[in-house]
Amino acid sequence: PAIGSLIKRDRPTFSFEFMPPKNREAEQLLWKTIRELEPLRPDFVSITYGAGGSSRDTTVSVTERVATETTLLPMAHLTAVNHSVAELRNVIGRLAGAGVRNVLAVRGDPPGDPNGEWVRHPDGVLYAEDLVRLLREAGDFSVGVAAFPYKHPRSADIEGDTRNFIRKCRAGADFAITQMFFQADEYLRLRDRVAAAGCDTPIVPGVMPVLRMATIARSAQLSGAPFPPELLARFERVQDDDTAVRQLGIDLCSEMCQRLLDEGVPGIHFITMNRSTATREVWQNLAATPAIAA
Ligand code: FAD
Repeated sequence: PAIGSLIKRDRPTFSFEFMPPKNREAEQLLWKTIRELEPLRPDFVSITYGAGGSSRDTTVSVTERVATETTLLPMAHLTAVNHSVAELRNVIGRLAGAGVRNVLAVRGDPPGDPNGEWVRHPDGVLYAEDLVRLLREAGDFSVGVAAFPYKHPRSADIEGDTRNFIRKCRAGADFAITQMFFQADEYLRLRDRVAAAGCDTPIVPGVMPVLRMATIARSAQLSGAPFPPELLARFERVQDDDTAVRQLGIDLCSEMCQRLLDEGVPGIHFITMNRSTATREVWQNLAATPAIAA
């Protein structure tokens, strides 16, 4: 099925994001995780696209394997970094050949320094919007795009960011998934400004619980914004106790998801980092809610 139509149903979708494994050990962990999460019957799972080299082939092969060997519905991420249009068409053709009909079209960051200059491949495309068009031309794909609650780090201001987001929706995106964020209001503000600009593309929040203090330290890079100070203060109070930090992270993520569900979000997309336990814990906390029990 097309993820775009699943997301438009009256029940929120639940989905899990994985990364292509870098070596044999990571591959075993990923498949263990996939098998552990499969019984939760997510609506779909997604596999991110690496910055270059072999991890790109791995994205395609993991997506193919999920499609053929599991009961899960896979979505491949695809980026424009260092790819000519011919190469992009080739990857899109491989995905179609494996029966994969759902793709998240993101521009990607420059390999090495994610904040470095974005250089377009001489025969490539410039923006995610162009990737959306390529996928649309290639055939019957349901296409998703990225959304940024705190605006994209490269965007000068919120207004420009919203305008560019809407451009990619109008280019043919069926849905969007957000960058991670840590307060429901950040998502709600994004949803409101996009709606106020006349765009009704459903936006699925992407979530990841904080499990250790190091995640908070990296969160500015991950989310594009400083970690919310009032939450930071709560983590700092327990920072010497790893178990308490983890529990607080799971609790805060569960509370935020509950609030988002109460606000009628079209789905929740869990960034799993290829592990199952934290995602299952948040899921368990939400399982009693009518939305997820349906
Ligand atoms: P774009 O939509 O192209 O936007 C990039 C910048 O250009 C923004 O500032 C935007 O406002 C601006 N812009 C867009 N269109 C125009 C225009 N027409 N004129 C002027 N300015 C414009 N990265 C990976 O490498 N692999 C992944 O698998 C991956 N998955 C992701 C999944 C999600 C849910 C999210 C949120 C991000 C993901 N990323 C991934 C990261 C993403 O590639 C980077 O954040 C990237 O810098 C931006 O991608 P984008 O698709 O939003 O780019």
